Amino acid sequence: MSTFQEIMAQKEKPAPLSSNNLDEQFWAHCAQERLCFQRCNSCDTWRHLPRHMCAACGSAQWRWEKSCGKGAIHSWTVAHLPTHPAFAGDVPYAVAIIELQEGVRMVARLSGIKPADIVLDYEVELYFEKTTGGALLPFFRPRTEAQGSAVSPQSGS
Ligand SMILES: [Zn+2]
Repeated sequence: MSTFQEIMAQKEKPAPLSSNNLDEQFWAHCAQERLCFQRCNSCDTWRHLPRHMCAACGSAQWRWEKSCGKGAIHSWTVAHLPTHPAFAGDVPYAVAIIELQEGVRMVARLSGIKPADIVLDYEVELYFEKTTGGALLPFFRPRTEAQGSAVSPQSGS
């Protein structure tokens, strides 16, 4: 286990830290370029962050399922100061809460869009970015096939 000072002194971008075996499984899927979320065996509800029980029905039976990787921007912020020296060349960059089509939300970096151009519900798609340290991280970029409908009001169905 690295100390905070050791992590801050490294030249590589830090890899995700797992705090439990469910986190480890999530990142192990990412290492295979698969974004997977847990899904309840009783009621089929998707969930993220990884946890042992379903918040919808209380079942402890679940499975991993691969996400379609498509979603929309639910919220975002723009980092103007690096939180680690290895990110100094990246600023400014956007970090967003992405709502995936499965209904779960996750935090991820955005790329391929200027921070000033980001709007609510902008449609994005997953890709994996390899860090200098070799970890594969889920990133999101503008979805090429469907822009234009992203900022339209929802049809009232
Ligand atoms: Zn359930």
